[in-house]
Amino acid sequence: MSSTLQSGARFRAYPDRGVASLLRRWVGCQRAIYNGKVEEDRLFAAQRRLELASGKADVKTPLDQRYAQFKDRELTRWLYEVPSQILRNGAVRWMSAKQRQLKGLGQAPRRRCRRDFNSVVIIQELFRFVRSPTGEMVIELGTKTNPVGVLPFKAHRAYGIANTIVVREVAGQWFVSLCYAHESAIVLREAHELAYELNGLDDGAVQQVTLGIDRNVRDNCIATSEGGQYRAEAIVLERMRRKEVGAKRYQRRIAHAKKGSANRRKLVARLARKKAYAPRARKDFAHKVSHGLATSGAQFFVLEDLGIQGLTRAPKARLDEASGKWLANGARAKAGLNRSILESCWGSIHRTLAYKAARRNKLVGLVPAAYTSQECSRCGHIHPENREGARFVCRRCGFEAHADHNAALNIKARGIERLRGGEYASVKTSKRVAFRRRDERAQQPTERNTTGGRPAHACGGEGPHPEHRIERTQDRVAA
Ligand SMILES: [Zn+2]
Repeated sequence: MSSTLQSGARFRAYPDRGVASLLRRWVGCQRAIYNGKVEEDRLFAAQRRLELASGKADVKTPLDQRYAQFKDRELTRWLYEVPSQILRNGAVRWMSAKQRQLKGLGQAPRRRCRRDFNSVVIIQELFRFVRSPTGEMVIELGTKTNPVGVLPFKAHRAYGIANTIVVREVAGQWFVSLCYAHESAIVLREAHELAYELNGLDDGAVQQVTLGIDRNVRDNCIATSEGGQYRAEAIVLERMRRKEVGAKRYQRRIAHAKKGSANRRKLVARLARKKAYAPRARKDFAHKVSHGLATSGAQFFVLEDLGIQGLTRAPKARLDEASGKWLANGARAKAGLNRSILESCWGSIHRTLAYKAARRNKLVGLVPAAYTSQECSRCGHIHPENREGARFVCRRCGFEAHADHNAALNIKARGIERLRGGEYASVKTSKRVAFRRRDERAQQPTERNTTGGRPAHACGGEGPHPEHRIERTQDRVAA
């Protein structure tokens, strides 16, 4: 018995000048087709609206992956210089974005530019893994009969042979991503099955295999209920700080550089490289921590449910009614907190731990985060004065511990309580993100409109046109 897993890997690639320029052309052509499809679709949509308005009942517009209409010997000569598979994938990428929209998972595909479409999807016919004369594996680009160049890459870990690769350029560095299927020796079980099995263990065994994990924003470290700590290396934090200083310097110079000049372009590229370091370092940290946790002896990981999005949202502006002036709303203080939360990359640790644990048949559970740092893990007494900086001293029973360790113990206890309560044993389907139009609000005039406010549109709504205002709702779909 075994199961098939999908794995992905992203390696640094080192194309020479010629191959890099060829790849850039491929990226550009794929983007051109994608944008062509976006524009075409908007035309179709406009046409459809017109026809519906003129009283036609059943209007159908084409939905396909054709791209031949964009090729023109005079206007788009350059599209003839790249393999047709590259162009076809531009249409395929647009189609998958469109399908997401039709399923209600996203908005309509929009025009992309160099910045947000910097990759090229290459399919099997256009690449193969070959051994170079020096004995390393490289990717040969082009068809078998007409190879156009080799792409050396540095594989920092084992990988499988992929059917499709994605090559991208980020801040002057090249990366190749591959996705492949491979066999796993263990039979994977669903989360609710794991919860059921864990619940079958006696109390002592559950205590042994459960690990509570607390994050400390101020010190940017992760503490476990076993007393262990994970923190980013000091040298990495120092580098992040230095690159930030460097980025600011480039930003100042860019402000004075002449628009459109080669010098400005160079500065922008250097700024991008400085800016690219921090997210990369955070991602690396998240992978290291989650790998360390997932490969430990624990079978059940308990994390705080923080709702990162809610915490990182900017605070509301506050207006003083009497004087009409804006009041301090703590935005600056919160900006610091936001950064620290993102720096501790809690969200990505949860995400990476979730899949790494699932592959090892281990369970990840969330518990409410309220008062985990103020509660005594021995007697349950909750008081803000229990905490003295990094120490935790209970006012009632005198229990003493490192504050993070105490919080991790609380999280662990809450996790076990919820496990025993059957919280994780219910079958949950994946979260679905649906977009819902706010049409109801347009029909009911708001208070401000009736009291002589400014109706912005003929239909009586205020602010952006209700047709264009789309609300994001998250709802769990019942199985
Ligand atoms: Zn106590």
